[in-house]
Amino acid sequence: MKVMGLSRLFLVAPEAPFPSSRATAMATSGDDILQKATVVDDMLAAISGCGLVLGTTARLRSLPLPVTDPRKAAERVLAEAPQHEVAIVFGRENSGLTNEETRLCHYLVNIPTSEEYHSLNLAQAVQVVTYELHMAALSELPGEVAPPDWVPEPPERLEFYFQRLQRTLLEIGFLNPDQPKRLMQRLRRLYQRARPDENELNILNGILSATLERAGEREDDGA
Ligand code: SAH
Repeated sequence: MKVMGLSRLFLVAPEAPFPSSRATAMATSGDDILQKATVVDDMLAAISGCGLVLGTTARLRSLPLPVTDPRKAAERVLAEAPQHEVAIVFGRENSGLTNEETRLCHYLVNIPTSEEYHSLNLAQAVQVVTYELHMAALSELPGEVAPPDWVPEPPERLEFYFQRLQRTLLEIGFLNPDQPKRLMQRLRRLYQRARPDENELNILNGILSATLERAGEREDDGA
């Protein structure tokens, strides 16, 4: 991170005690970044307030989000960084990101590799992605990616909406209580793609409130 000019590191629930002399020794001249790192309990806490969240993955899943490569991702980051905070999320060395963590992202970034083997070491993946960010920052050419002309709501507000959406869909009998996940995944993907702003999310929340109200009335009618 440091050689490529990045400094803000969040660590999500590190397994080993933190900070540790081993980590400090491995960080060498990058130790200042490690010392300033923010430790949080879960990914949502790490990305809270971010207008753009990019998850890096070696795997391309069955229900993929839009996937981009590090070069295009870097252009987007540079285009949006003046507007809002941007998070680039890396997974665990052994198991990567969980599906749940992947679902919190707007885009996935995949480093193109050989067909035979896709998985880089974590540190190497960080290097490739941060190198592209640095190159994009050095480039004097105006970026071709236009920043969005709206302010996307941060992930924690969207999570709140998704919880309400699930409760509402269960309430009105639209969601199968035994298997709510599949449909919720698709709906999440739809909303993540749109990255609604405050106004839009208020409207969506209003629709849920009105739906619940009407559902309550109908139940009363039937009683
Ligand atoms: N078995 C894990 C591999 C984890 S590699 C998996 O399949 O997800 C550790 C981390 O390095 C990943 O979570 C990701 O953040 C990054 N990484 C490794 N290879 C990558 C690739 N080809 N493209 C993008 N990120 C990669």
